[in-house]
Formats: sequence, C-alpha cells, structure tokens
Amino acid sequence: MIATERALFLDRDGVLNFDSGYVGTIDRFEIIPGVADALVKAMRLGYRLIVVTNQSGIARGYYTAADYVRVERHMVAVFAALGVQFTGIYHCPHHPDGVVPDLAFACDCRKPGPGLLLQACADHAIDPLRSIMVGDRPSDLAAGKAAGVGHRFLIGKPTSAEGAAFVSLADLIDSATFEAMARSA
Ligand SMILES: [Mg+2]
Ligand SMILES: [Zn+2]
Repeated sequence: MIATERALFLDRDGVLNFDSGYVGTIDRFEIIPGVADALVKAMRLGYRLIVVTNQSGIARGYYTAADYVRVERHMVAVFAALGVQFTGIYHCPHHPDGVVPDLAFACDCRKPGPGLLLQACADHAIDPLRSIMVGDRPSDLAAGKAAGVGHRFLIGKPTSAEGAAFVSLADLIDSATFEAMARSA
C-alpha cells in the first residue's frame, strides 16, 4: 500500500479538551473553544484527523477500559455534531507502574514511543513525512519525531517552560505557518 494520505495527529487531553487530569468520565470532557472549527478547516485542507492519546489512567485503575470507551464515544458524537470526523482514534492503556496486571508493562505505544502513530500510518496509508503532530507536552512531539512525522508543534500557554509558539490548536491552524504548510505539500 502506497502512503498517500497526510494526517493531523492530535494529542487528546490539553489539545482537544481541557486536561483536568485523568479525564475518565464524560462530565469532565470539555472541548477547548475554537477546536472544532479548526479541525473542520484542517479536514478541508486535506488532513486526516488522527487522535493519539496516552490513557495510563486505565493501567493505574483510575478508570476502566469501558469508561475510556464511553468518553471516546462521547467525544466522537460531540465533534460529529460540529462537523468533525476522526479517521482514527488510538490510545495507550499501559503504564509500567500500573495496578492492572495485564496493562502494567513498558510498551512501545505509550508516547514518547511511536507505536500509536505507526499503527495509524499502517491502517490509513498515511505518509508521516507530510503529516503534522500537535501536542501539549514534549513527549507528544518526541513520539511524532520517532514515527517520522515531518511537522511537529507544541501548543500551550505562552509562559510555559517549553516555549510553545501557539497557545491553542485553533491558534496554530489559523496561523500563516499552518496555511503555508497545508498549501505546499
Ligand atoms: Mg496532552
Ligand atoms: Zn501502550
């Protein structure tokens, strides 16, 4: 299969929704303003939307795999109502310090590992070099780099230690930087 698609890889917590810490219930899933419109724009520019999210709360026993699925379904429904379709949603339920025996190990899908992104590329014919990774932590960008993703952006508060150039996903997608990138490749 020839990799012809390009993706916008998205961390979930802190990028799509506010990260209030281990978001395991739908009442705590709150979309960050402007995100849905930004994703619609990215779709129109030809990007597949792929969510890649660490969910160690499952391994840690803070919420169950079924709880996670409920939140994911809620996310899909809420965004669909706003015109946003995700091509794929990938999560890592593992953590070496977990309390759920089957999930307590060092995997290669937990970011900064590239596993989730590599799986998505294989599943959806995505060319990583022409794709974009957006995260709010350096480990998100490291995962993108390890998977060969050509464009990587850290978002967050302007005062953050990492020096993120864009405050939010909407800020990035509305930027001239993004426009130029989308038109060029
Ligand atoms: Mg995050
Ligand atoms: Zn994993």
